[in-house]
Amino acid sequence: MTTFSPLAGGLREAWTEPLPAERLRKLRRAALATRARLLEGGRVASCSTHKLVTFPYPTRYAFSGGALSPMPFVMMTNRMQIVQFEHEQRRQTLLFNPSDLEANRAATYYANLARSFGEYLSRSLIPTYHGTPESHLEAAGLSPDDVDFIAFDHLHVQDLRRWLGGPGPGLFPNARLLVMRDEWRTARDLHPMNAVWYVPRGCEVPEARVELLDGDVRLGPGVALLDTRGHTRGNMSLCVVTPDGPFVVSENGVAPESYAPEHSRIAGVKAFAEQMGLEVVLNGNTREDSLDQYSSMIVEKLVAGPSPFDPTFPALAPSSELTASVFAPGLAPTFTFTPRDVGHHVRTATRVRPEARGAA
Ligand SMILES: [Zn+2]
Repeated sequence: MTTFSPLAGGLREAWTEPLPAERLRKLRRAALATRARLLEGGRVASCSTHKLVTFPYPTRYAFSGGALSPMPFVMMTNRMQIVQFEHEQRRQTLLFNPSDLEANRAATYYANLARSFGEYLSRSLIPTYHGTPESHLEAAGLSPDDVDFIAFDHLHVQDLRRWLGGPGPGLFPNARLLVMRDEWRTARDLHPMNAVWYVPRGCEVPEARVELLDGDVRLGPGVALLDTRGHTRGNMSLCVVTPDGPFVVSENGVAPESYAPEHSRIAGVKAFAEQMGLEVVLNGNTREDSLDQYSSMIVEKLVAGPSPFDPTFPALAPSSELTASVFAPGLAPTFTFTPRDVGHHVRTATRVRPEARGAA
């Protein structure tokens, strides 16, 4: 059972529409209403964004085949947010996308890639490590005990075991995973078409450490998790309202220009979107729910609104953001978006373990 309430604005109801085109029309209206309600509902207490690792990703997936480049890989940078918000009269701490960089390498796709590239190239030369969730937390003046929640946009390449434990409490002894029920179920019983993107057994953590969600939720003033299904069944996005306006964190697109392909200067992307009649270009490594992924990206774009730094592009902070690199000539992003850090993080640890708080 979650203690969080659904977001106001009608997105949950819009998702129940069975016809995809009508569903998209309803989602557009609900996204604008949701944005307005989020703006009325206050601002985040504090939020900071941290780089984790820059790594290769297939070009053909990054823009759904739209980018015209002979280079097989783009480079992307994983990022994590530390977010604090008021909930139940207490300031609480969320880590969004705290990827366990070492354990993630066991995701089947990347394990296979390492075999074909060789260990040195795939481990030492190509990735650039910027910091770990633990090191960023420490630099922010927080301790692992302070973390109340961890959440991911989805569970591709994630391994939760070091964070949430098994026999022991894990590195974050007070944290629970916030995850959509559909995401949790599919990640625990993988279809062969999905399995390549997951870490085998990476989700084997005690159920008591998991809080299942059944749709969008408001975590506190200025902080929400949006249901942005499609890339995976239970995909979600973080929305944060700051003095600069709202922004949305997602992996549905690899760059802000994925949401505004008409302004992309990457060869092929604009023409691809025009030819196919697309308003957004999917990060397309999964195909089973692409119509929903497209609709989710429209929701994200409308909830986020324009970037405060360049209103040509939406305030979309990709959780894996396309990154300029000598390894990927011609595939540098036209515009990048890193939200400004806001507020001050404060220690929030309580001595009470989740078991004692009566976690679901
Ligand atoms: Zn993914």
